[in-house]
Amino acid sequence: MNLLDAIREAGIVGAGGAGFPTHVKLKAKAEWFIVNAAECEPLIETDKYLCRTYADRIVAAAVIVAGHLQAEHTVIALKKKYRAEIDALRAAIDKAGAAIEICEMGVFYPAGDEQTMVQFVTGKTVPERGLPLDVGAVVDNVGTLLGIYDAMTEGKSVSSKYLSVVGEVREPIMIHTPIGTPITQCIEAAKPHLTDYAVIVGGPMMGRVLSDREAIRNAVVTKTTGNLIVLPRDHYLITRAGRPMERIRAQARTACIQCRMCTDLCPRYQIGHQIRPHMVMRNLYREQMISSNEEFLRAFGDAANCCSCGVCEMFACPMGLSPRKVNEYMKGALRERGLQPERNMKPEARPELDMRRIPTERLIARLGLSAYSGLHAHTCIELSPDEVFVPFAQHIGKPAQPVCKAGDTVNKGDLIAQAAEGALSANIHAGITGVITEVSAAGARISGRKEG
Ligand code: SF4
Ligand code: SF4
Repeated sequence: MNLLDAIREAGIVGAGGAGFPTHVKLKAKAEWFIVNAAECEPLIETDKYLCRTYADRIVAAAVIVAGHLQAEHTVIALKKKYRAEIDALRAAIDKAGAAIEICEMGVFYPAGDEQTMVQFVTGKTVPERGLPLDVGAVVDNVGTLLGIYDAMTEGKSVSSKYLSVVGEVREPIMIHTPIGTPITQCIEAAKPHLTDYAVIVGGPMMGRVLSDREAIRNAVVTKTTGNLIVLPRDHYLITRAGRPMERIRAQARTACIQCRMCTDLCPRYQIGHQIRPHMVMRNLYREQMISSNEEFLRAFGDAANCCSCGVCEMFACPMGLSPRKVNEYMKGALRERGLQPERNMKPEARPELDMRRIPTERLIARLGLSAYSGLHAHTCIELSPDEVFVPFAQHIGKPAQPVCKAGDTVNKGDLIAQAAEGALSANIHAGITGVITEVSAAGARISGRKEG
């Protein structure tokens, strides 16, 4: 089976968070192949663990993918402070005799953002709302490469996931668990200090905040779950996420002092994109007064280029305002009006870019996470849940279509939902061996319990 077929069959999607189907992304030729091992957000341990533990496999998969892309440069990019991981990768590269460079990035946020990384490694800026391929680059996360290695060498599909559990737990740990495992089981395995907690699924800047108890009970591990942060319910990050949009807009209209720190520190602005969050904030008071589409685009069009990295609201703004959320709101308003701002296809990074990087340690302090910083996951626990719920939408695009029914017996790794025909989609496989007890549009429940 060729590479793309093997990846499609295995249901591999970007493991770094976005969940873009990998067989679609790799339908290309590219000058640069960049392996993203930078662990974009603070506290996450997963990419580091994979680099230390599976360096040989990551390098082997990088060689395969780079060959497929006919890449002239293959680069593994990670933060320069990850010495153990860099040593492991260098040893694996030497052993394989592979033509792979290591790019040691600074310790800043968002080093692992695809566009920031492409600019750092190649010196070229991806066009506004464009893809790395627009400047001849393809970027894959280390977790994605591990999936590719398993698919190519053993024909394995994506049925399990590595993730870290950090925050209010005895110590940060790695978990290897079937797709569909309730996140509460992962947290219990990490021995939380609290019985009633809130959770961030992902990183503290861009992760999904769960504070509703039922939402926490129902949340499961998917192909893109790389980290869980357990926090007290009254932690700043949890209470801040609960602010209603109406209040956020009212605060923006009345309290923005137009210092433009949000713009000057915006990573997208710094790589040369047209995005000035302070202008969106300034214009917000006249949102309801603008009838002309041209004027609306002038006032709010920049919001379309926001990647929701959160630097403006979680780090830059001295008034505690939320330009990110205002931008997200404005993106919706632009969509409603059917407006698309013009794209700059040849943006150039600003000269002050290197001086405007956000040091990760200062960001951690600002987020109120210093108590959890500097602790690392040294062990990986294998979980074997009795029951899993496997969602059919774990990727960007259309949900997969079920090919199983209640009562079917399945083995771990069996296909249970097929990528939607003719659409961006990905196959879904059974996380455990057992009996399907329920199938809905949302996913399939599998019970692995033995009768009697
Ligand atoms: S969230 Fe803020 S800092 Fe990040 S891209 Fe959007 S405007 Fe810029
Ligand atoms: S940083 Fe805050 S106060 Fe300053 S311009 Fe931006 S939103 Fe306004």
